[in-house]
Amino acid sequence: MTLEDTACELDAADPLARFRERFVLPEGVVYLDGNSLGALPRATPAAMARVVEREWGEGLIRSWNEAGWFEMGSRVGAKIAPLIGAQPSEVIACDTVSANLFKLIAAALEMQREATGGRTVILSEPGNFPTDIYMIQGLERQGLATQRLAPRERILEALDEDVALLMLTHAHYKTGELFDMSALTKAAHEVGALVLWDLSHSTGALPVDLNAVGADFATGCGYKYLCGGPGAPAFAFVAERHLPDLKQPLTGWFGHARPFAFSDEYEAAPGIEQLQCGTSPVLALTALEVGVDLIAEIGVERLSAKSRALSEFFLECVGALGLALDLVSPANSDARGSQLSLRHKEAYAICQALIARGVIGDFRDPDILRFGFAPAYLRFGDMVSAVRELSDVLENGDWRRDEFSQRLTVT
Ligand SMILES: *Cc1c(COP(=O)(O)O)cnc(C)c1O
Repeated sequence: MTLEDTACELDAADPLARFRERFVLPEGVVYLDGNSLGALPRATPAAMARVVEREWGEGLIRSWNEAGWFEMGSRVGAKIAPLIGAQPSEVIACDTVSANLFKLIAAALEMQREATGGRTVILSEPGNFPTDIYMIQGLERQGLATQRLAPRERILEALDEDVALLMLTHAHYKTGELFDMSALTKAAHEVGALVLWDLSHSTGALPVDLNAVGADFATGCGYKYLCGGPGAPAFAFVAERHLPDLKQPLTGWFGHARPFAFSDEYEAAPGIEQLQCGTSPVLALTALEVGVDLIAEIGVERLSAKSRALSEFFLECVGALGLALDLVSPANSDARGSQLSLRHKEAYAICQALIARGVIGDFRDPDILRFGFAPAYLRFGDMVSAVRELSDVLENGDWRRDEFSQRLTVT
């Protein structure tokens, strides 16, 4: 049986196959970058047009009340909640992951100041997504935080009673390696540290159960597996038990208990709404809501099972064609996120050559080819096509062409 035959059988048996037509995907493209920017749901343009033309164009300012704009961050947050094992009242869609990290780290530090008299160490790993580490450094510059980075196999050793907050990314953006959320959350709590999980590469692709693991805080991305569109709002999670004492530093009016009282005194909203800062981005939330509804309809368990099957089949194809690439991601699909990272010293040029052939993956410095398996819209047939093109590019040296080594701004 050829790889194509196997792919045909797998696609025919795939319970999620029918969801592909709910996305707009250009002809002739194999899109393996849904972990960076999710594809466009077919329902998004009409939803955007309705909000723009009717709610904005005709409703004007009345739509803040009449079209539910004011509650939009909470409403979309509540829909994200079941995808991450949270209660609806614990999640809000707002700002970016970066801004949410800042608010949540600062809030954790303030809780620690009151509870333990001043732990300031934020523990993370070197090579975490850069923005996560930069946000620690910004708070360090203000004299509020102390950065401590320990390689992932040394995290437990580095977790001592100086640590205020353990802040890790569940699925590593470069390698796809997963942290054991349950074990690490427990270990952190045992030394009196709080835990903040970055779920950017998990939400919408992997099962996550924040309340089962006892997480304190989390944030994650709206434009990756949730298909919310470029620059979509992120989300923030705060465990119910912390909401009454939460104090986040960006005390903007949308986090106020009564924004329209226009009081001179800041008084935080009692619930998760406090995480908001300024006015909700209604148009961006409209697109995000369509993506979240669609991902919720498909269901995270099914998405995760298919993502594993896709990546296993991709590796089977790589093996069958004998490609000389090192696997950087864990070989066991239980231990990785919805991606495969392969190493080659010419990864950048190979990636560009593949994109020229319609196979869109991405490159991560210095030598990683990254393929994401957004399970909502990919077919097993796409795996064979991608690996055949990859094989061809490697074999005929296509990647050596000058144009493929010109570095673009966004890789
Ligand atoms: C994509 C990603 C982000 C994105 O942060 P933004 O501020 O929303 O751009 C943050 N952290 C991780 C781990 C990511 O993968």
